[in-house]
Amino acid sequence: MADCIFCKIAAGEIPSKKVYEDETVLAFYDLDPQAPAHVLVIPKAHIASAAEITPENSGVVGHIFEVIAKLSQDLGLEKGFRVINNCGEDGMQSVQHLHFHLLGGRKMGWPPFPKD
Ligand code: AMP
Repeated sequence: MADCIFCKIAAGEIPSKKVYEDETVLAFYDLDPQAPAHVLVIPKAHIASAAEITPENSGVVGHIFEVIAKLSQDLGLEKGFRVINNCGEDGMQSVQHLHFHLLGGRKMGWPPFPKD
């Protein structure tokens, strides 16, 4: 999709530090890491957000979670990790291409946001 930064990364038009790639999925390091390991896992095909997942395109989401499980081993996250999807304005989504944050390498906080 034109003007989508993650589509451009998937197409190799913008550089990224890739950790995994196959026909349908790409994983690369986040530019602004929030944990010692912070990887974004995206479908190569454009899906704007988690709110746009349908029976027709949901197969890639299962595959993304298979990739996350593999990456958690490759990145040495045996003690655990967190997967985050920010969706829409209230979810603080800043890039309008479906992506899952894989975060690990430190103890996470919970709850992850102020209650008020
Ligand atoms: P979100 O706020 O959930 O939409 O997350 C978007 C994430 O993309 C943020 O954590 C950014 O740091 C990250 N990001 C934006 N542009 C790039 C880029 N060119 N390469 C890697 N990560 C990026």
